Amino acid sequence: MMPFGYTRPADVASAVALLAAHPGALALAGGTNLVDLMKLGVERPALLVDIARLPLDRIEATPAGGLRIGATVRNSDLAAHPLVRERYPLLAEAVLAGASGQLRNAATTGGNLLQRTRCLYFQDVSKPCNKRRPGTGCPARTGVHRDLGVLGTSEHCVATHPSDLAVALVALDATVRLTGPDGDRTFPLAAFHRLPGDSPERDTELGPAELVTAVELPPPPAGARSVYRKVRDRASFAFATCSLAALLTLRDGRVDTVRLAFGALAPRPWRALTAEAALHGQPATPEVIGRALAAELAAARPLPDNAFKLTLARRLAVRELVRLADPQEHR
Ligand SMILES: Cc1cc2nc3c(=O)[nH]c(=O)nc-3n(C[C@H](O)[C@H](O)[C@H](O)COP(=O)(O)OP(=O)(O)OC[C@H]3O[C@@H](n4cnc5c(N)ncnc54)[C@H](O)[C@@H]3O)c2cc1C
Ligand code: SF4
Repeated sequence: MMPFGYTRPADVASAVALLAAHPGALALAGGTNLVDLMKLGVERPALLVDIARLPLDRIEATPAGGLRIGATVRNSDLAAHPLVRERYPLLAEAVLAGASGQLRNAATTGGNLLQRTRCLYFQDVSKPCNKRRPGTGCPARTGVHRDLGVLGTSEHCVATHPSDLAVALVALDATVRLTGPDGDRTFPLAAFHRLPGDSPERDTELGPAELVTAVELPPPPAGARSVYRKVRDRASFAFATCSLAALLTLRDGRVDTVRLAFGALAPRPWRALTAEAALHGQPATPEVIGRALAAELAAARPLPDNAFKLTLARRLAVRELVRLADPQEHR
């Protein structure tokens, strides 16, 4: 048994003050990741600051025509919200591709973005792991790494970020709103999750006593078609082997706006900016898309058992973009 404290503050300022006053404290939202990691002995918070009932559970249209999603909005409520389904259908698709109905009823927007990697060594306290215990090594590189990263990794860590929701949000140009002892700040979500470099123990740019309070979306591009597609080992209740959030508009038969983000390839949702630039102004043919993806993936550093992810990612993007560009395909 590991003793820990539990408290449920009434407002955001009190939650931040508690986190700042207790360096070993962690925020508890739906608990679907944190409590599992506590049972495994991976997380050992001295105090849980329960934020699940803070008034951060609203989804609101912004004056700019976008959407503001509170940090404690449950995944189920997010996927079912009329404004999400109407304006950001790929967001609903991504949420519904994750976990199970029961988990989505408990899991929150902020918690989903901040869930930890599913790397087997990270979850097994009998094994070394640089992310869990800095300086102990990365057994995944020579061990089980089929599901781990091919882009943005380092010699110190090759873990992937497991969220589906985050991938869709990155393709939608989301920003994340944080509040902490020094006030509020916003971050582009695409830069919120850190690449491991030589400090893989830090997953994100979140400060020690900061909370995610909301995620904000700009309006979607007019006339955009979009999709979230997840490849996984079984059709439900499985994390992605590779996933893609894609959004496309055409002008005179050529790519006008394209946004591509991959999941399960990297320590963060991977926005494919090189491929996007190569596609702009081009016809959306399989050959053109394939070349753009080859340019994007040229920087990959796969390990022996996960090089297949490069072929998978390229084929997934070609198939989905060709379908989005086809006016006969109804979505
Ligand atoms: C069996 C299983 C299958 C799953 N499959 C998928 C899947 O296919 N796709 C997918 O995307 N996810 C999947 N998940 C993960 C699930 O979506 C996450 O566990 C969930 O989204 C986490 O949200 P939560 O509110 O429960 O977070 P918690 O478990 O409460 O917290 C997670 C972390 O975030 C921190 N935190 C939470 N909220 C905040 C905040 N507002 N500010 C600062 N810190 C915060 C906590 O301190 C903790 O470190 C699966 C989980 C399980 C158990
Ligand atoms: S990939 Fe990262 S999380 Fe997995 S064992 Fe290596 S250091 Fe740990």
